[in-house]
Amino acid sequence: MSEVRVRFAPSPTGPLHIGGVRTALYNYLFAKKNGGTFILRIEDTDQTRFVEGAEDYIIDSLKWCGIKIDEGIYEGGEYGPYRQSDRKAIYRQYADMLIESGDAYYAFDTPEELEILRRESENAGNTFIYNGYIRAKLNNSLSLAEADWKSKLENGDPFVIRYKMPLNEDIHFDDLIRGDIVVNTSTLDDKVLYKSDGMPTYHLAHLVDDHLMKISHVIRGEEWLPSLPLHFMLYRSFKWDPPRFAHLPLLLKPDGKGKLSKRDGDKMGFPVFPVFWPYGETAKGYREEGYYPDAFVNMIALLGWNPGTEQEIFSMDQLIEAFTIERVGKSGSRFDPEKAKWFNHQYLQTKPDDQIAIEFREFLRAKGFHFDIVRLETLIALVKERVNFVKEIWDQTDYFFKAPELYDQEVIKKRWKDDTPARLMELRAVLEECEDFSVASTEGVVKSWIENNGYNTGAIMNAFRLVIVGASRGPHMFDIISWIGKDETLQRIDKGIAVIGNISK
Ligand code: GLU
Repeated sequence: MSEVRVRFAPSPTGPLHIGGVRTALYNYLFAKKNGGTFILRIEDTDQTRFVEGAEDYIIDSLKWCGIKIDEGIYEGGEYGPYRQSDRKAIYRQYADMLIESGDAYYAFDTPEELEILRRESENAGNTFIYNGYIRAKLNNSLSLAEADWKSKLENGDPFVIRYKMPLNEDIHFDDLIRGDIVVNTSTLDDKVLYKSDGMPTYHLAHLVDDHLMKISHVIRGEEWLPSLPLHFMLYRSFKWDPPRFAHLPLLLKPDGKGKLSKRDGDKMGFPVFPVFWPYGETAKGYREEGYYPDAFVNMIALLGWNPGTEQEIFSMDQLIEAFTIERVGKSGSRFDPEKAKWFNHQYLQTKPDDQIAIEFREFLRAKGFHFDIVRLETLIALVKERVNFVKEIWDQTDYFFKAPELYDQEVIKKRWKDDTPARLMELRAVLEECEDFSVASTEGVVKSWIENNGYNTGAIMNAFRLVIVGASRGPHMFDIISWIGKDETLQRIDKGIAVIGNISK
């Protein structure tokens, strides 16, 4: 394969949807797998759809995912500039080349005139297509006398440049994912390549840029597949070799009904954006929801690509190693928010406890609790199996930091017997005697006390848990009391007996 150069070419029209992140990721994996270059090109020729902040948002999102840009607006590169509005001066000459060769023409029809024609066609039950069957009846440099259209240009009348699509020709092209495709040109229209605002349309701009930037493979969303015949025709008209194409399958809603859209996000209870979108109508992001970037990337990678094995956990390096376009499927992939959580759970289990402790310490600080990493590490080891996110550690451990204020009524009803306060007072005395408050020591002492007195272990331990935790949840009791310490344990027993003793009367 000659040098691999791929580009991710988003339009800065808002936040980057996870489908867009996946497109970027597949381009990146393909580039890195093949020792190639990953380019970020900003496609902002449609000024009416430009959204402030979107460009930085896109870059920030890629960075968070660990997708490194080789050439781009900040990185520079041999083929810059990498923002289309900064390349404005380049495009007109290419539109002119096509006019010269007779493959494009000027059209002067106003939007109002076209709208009337569109409506007339619709009323007659047809679709209006600006193409070889009717262009001779419309207002353009093919239908008008040369002197007329030239004087229109000289007068500064608004115009667009349209591609002259030939009629009734079967064109063949191939896609790395879809295989060989044939389209008859009579089904296609004369697309606008250049607008009177002095800006090229996407079709012209991206194609010129892909050519000038020596792009070897165009990997993009399936929504561009219908435009591919036009792009092939344009390559032919310019006499340029086309790159190889790969059109990625859609990402579907969790119920499989339709495309996952930007609007589905918060509405369905999960984010559709990689990071928080802070402008206008704000939207949640995976980063702020507590996802690890490597878990997020792993999850995204498997939406449409499969390694052909049972393996599900892949680091970025492993993805690069394993990725091939041939293993990207044709059909849409259903997005599964539960699976996304599962991935984060898996990654959290493999993170070192001290790293999780650092993150959790920040969370605690915000709640006004200050603990050192070493203490938090032991706590994290106790509960991490039960959580998907660092923020969930709090729900599992709140009682480590503060004595319960409420006690589970159901548990009281079931576990609090007449002799419970007396037993807990005995237990309190036993624990008070304990010099060494480690897990092994407290466990040993309490178990022999239970045994020596012939008490029922379940009855004692359930009531003990109730006064310490407030409910019947949590890890091993001796892990808990050893962590909170002797004084706190004794105080909680006192408080529990006083409060529950009263409630249960
Ligand atoms: N600017 C286009 C988009 O945002 C890029 C399509 C392409 O990759 O060719 O979808």
